[in-house]
Formats: sequence, C-alpha cells, structure tokens
Amino acid sequence: MYDPKSSKAEEFIDHAEILETLEYAHANRHNAALIDEIIQKARQRKGLSHRDAAVLLDCDIDEKNQEIYALAQQIKKDFYGNRIVMFAPLYLSNYCVNGCVYCPYHYKNKHIARKKLTQQEIRDEVIALQDMGHKRLALETGEDPVNNPIEYVLESIRTIYGIKHKNGAIRRVNVNIAATTVENYSKLKDAGIGTYILFQETYHKESYEKLHPTGPKHDYAYHTEAMDRAMTGGIDDVGLGVLFGLELYRYEFAGLLMHAEHLEAAFGVGPHTISVPRIRHADDIDPDVFDNSINDDIFAKLVACIRIAVPYTGMIVSTRESQKCRERVLHLGISQVSGASRTSVGGYACPEPEDEKSEQFDVADTRTLDEVVLWLMQMGYIPSFCTACYRERRTGDRFMSLCKSGQIQNCCHPNALMTLQEYLQDYASPATRTVGEALIAREMAHIPHPGVKAIAQDNLEKIVRGSRDFRF
Ligand code: SF4
Ligand code: SF4
Repeated sequence: MYDPKSSKAEEFIDHAEILETLEYAHANRHNAALIDEIIQKARQRKGLSHRDAAVLLDCDIDEKNQEIYALAQQIKKDFYGNRIVMFAPLYLSNYCVNGCVYCPYHYKNKHIARKKLTQQEIRDEVIALQDMGHKRLALETGEDPVNNPIEYVLESIRTIYGIKHKNGAIRRVNVNIAATTVENYSKLKDAGIGTYILFQETYHKESYEKLHPTGPKHDYAYHTEAMDRAMTGGIDDVGLGVLFGLELYRYEFAGLLMHAEHLEAAFGVGPHTISVPRIRHADDIDPDVFDNSINDDIFAKLVACIRIAVPYTGMIVSTRESQKCRERVLHLGISQVSGASRTSVGGYACPEPEDEKSEQFDVADTRTLDEVVLWLMQMGYIPSFCTACYRERRTGDRFMSLCKSGQIQNCCHPNALMTLQEYLQDYASPATRTVGEALIAREMAHIPHPGVKAIAQDNLEKIVRGSRDFRF
C-alpha cells in the first residue's frame, strides 16, 4: 500500500500508485478545467503532488503547455533569480563490482582502463580544478569495497579540503558514492561533505533488477532506501536523480516526485537537488540499445514540470547535454551546471593517452570553464561559485526554512557577485573579465537591502585588493 511516510521502498515508491497516477494523467491530458486548476495551485509556489504534476507533464493542449513553460520560468526567476551555481565532477576510481548494463564501469568490461587516484594524484587533479576557478566538486567512485572502501573516500575528502594553492580552495565537496550504511553516512557527514548524491537510475523495480543483474546494487530496496539511511546518519542535503532513457520517462517522473514527497513526509526536508541525466554513449555502451530515450522537447517539459512541482529543490544539468540543450533548459528551472568536466579518472591535470581512456560517458559540452562562464554571462546569468550555506551550516531544514521565507535571496545574490568577482580576478580571460565586471556593476543595483548592498560593495573592493572568501 502506498505510504509516503513508510521506510520501505516498495511502499513509498508504490508501483500500483505510479500506474494509477499515469492512468489518471493520461485520462486528463486534455482536461482543460483540471489543468487550469493545477496551474492555479502551482502559482502558489508551494509545489505539486506527483499526481497533479503528472497531469501537467502529460498535458497536450498547446496553449496550456505554454502556460506551464511560462510558470516554470517565473518560478525559476523568483526562487533562483539569474544565478547559476557552478561545479565539476572529480572521479576518484572506476573500479566497480556492479554489473549495471548502462555503465562502462561494470565489472565485466575488460577493455576499459581501470584507475584509482592516489592522494598525490588527487592533489594534482584538484590543483588543476582550482586553477580553472572551481570551488565546488562532486566526487564520484565506483562501488568496490576492496579498492574504494569508505576510508579511501574519507581520506580523499580530507586531502581535497586541505589543499591550499594560490587563491584557490575547494569549499564544498559533494559526494556521489554507492548506497551504504548509516554508520558510513555518519562518517561522510563528519568529514564535512555537502550534498550526498545518489541516482536511483530507475524507480521501476522490475527494470531496475534487470539493469543491475549482479553486485550489491542489484538490491532495489537497499538502493532506494539509501537516502533514508543518509538522513538517519546526519546528512541533511541529499540529491536525487534518474537516468532518463532506461525506463518510461513518465514513470520515472512520478517516482522521482514520490521520492521527494517521502523525504519531506519522513524527515521534514525534501531533496536538496534533483539531477536530470540522459543516457549517453560510452565505451561498451550504445545508448540506442535503450529504447526509452527522450528527445529534447520531452526533456524540456520534464525540467519545467519538475521546477513547478518542487520549487525549493535545485536542479542540475551536466555536460552530458550540449550547449544548445543546456541553453534551452536553463531558464526553465536549472540552477546548477557543471563546466569543463572530465568524466575520466584523472584527466584534469594531464590528458589521458588514447589507449588508457577511462571515461564514464562522452561529454557533449566540451568547453572550458572560462567559455562556460562567458556564455552564461552573455545570456544574462550570473555564474556563481557560492558555497556559503553549507559553510554557514544552513543545511537541511534550516536551509529549507530560509528558502521558504524568501530570505535566501539576500544571501544568494551578493554571494554570487562576490564569488564571481573572485573568479574574474584570479582565473578569467581578459574578455570574460570585461563582461563580468560590467555584469557585477549592473547586478549590484538589484540587491534590495541597503545594508547588505553596502557590505557587498565593500567586499567587492576588498576582493580586487586581494582579500578572498566573503559570504553572507
Ligand atoms: S553506475 Fe556506478 S555502480 Fe553501476 S557500474 Fe557504473 S560505477 Fe558501478
Ligand atoms: S547562499 Fe546558499 S543557496 Fe544561495 S547560492 Fe550560496 S550556497 Fe546556494
């Protein structure tokens, strides 16, 4: 029986509830009166249930779809302004004991190069990332208790936070590792991680078991209940995601929102972020084998509907997507993007030789961070390197209540401008710096609180004179 408060995966992601939701959405896809009612509800900016959101996703009335896109755009603007938070992935190891059929790191793949970074190699990678201007990383490893035990991940986190190189610093380390125990999540919390990210891949249990035929990840319940254990272990901020293309997108959409509802019901805090990866070509992986791939139009609709359904949850799009596609979805709800990513183990400090490739997937957007920053600013966005909330202990329910009160805006905007100023001083090309300084000057006018504005102005001047790391 469907129960969002239950701690059992098959009760909070109830298959029958999803099927009924999809049926309900399909039956009401031309129901203008109901769609209007749901859009009105969504205008209150308190989010939508998975059932209501599923109706919007299925809606096939052109005029109503335009309203849905316009509303997503407005919610994005109201909650996130024109700021886009920047990050990069850092792959520590691609040793993996699982058999995921869509990932080239599956244990049967004998022709991909297997690598695990030493602490010195991690230092080299992080210095290369710092020299680009990154401040926020997402750590990635395969699941392998022998090669990648929790102690290795913890040691790597300590190494990363400990690196002081010129003006660079990694100020937030998010972690994307396999589902683990409450005890290990507590250790990650104590190591000072930001968000714990774990993609569900698919919420459809039967497909999940086929797509994960071997290894510990085969256990659907253990994987799906991971966020509960993470929160029990003290991690406040968790990041959800599915790999679009594995199952029917409507099913995944309902499952994703039910997972968010479960976290809210059971822990009082919804997910901090939702990622929307689509399956990509990789060594040993042909995306055409997976027949549930979604086109760019459906992808845009998914982003818009997630934005409306969970306004307080950040949304992430990675370099899996092309510049063109990223451009399309940015204004519909995306609040974080990666830039200049390498999806290989190593590769930031020095490129991998052709015969030693270890990428998890092909990157579609291959631009440098400077190019991504300039591109965002030319579209009117503020690339933000802010990591303030986690460092000010504004996580979990403290973060959410600040968001819900609207006060977060007084932090995000000046923090974005101050961290962008740091980037311009330390890493930007002359052309990017010129565009950035004009943008900061314009955007300062949009800080409503005079006291905050005066402090931010003073800090900007201090950054130009060499000081770093200011935050609200
Ligand atoms: S998706 Fe993760 S668990 Fe599965 S094979 Fe790839 S690295 Fe391993
Ligand atoms: S102030 Fe907090 S919510 Fe805003 S950008 Fe910085 S870390 Fe994110």
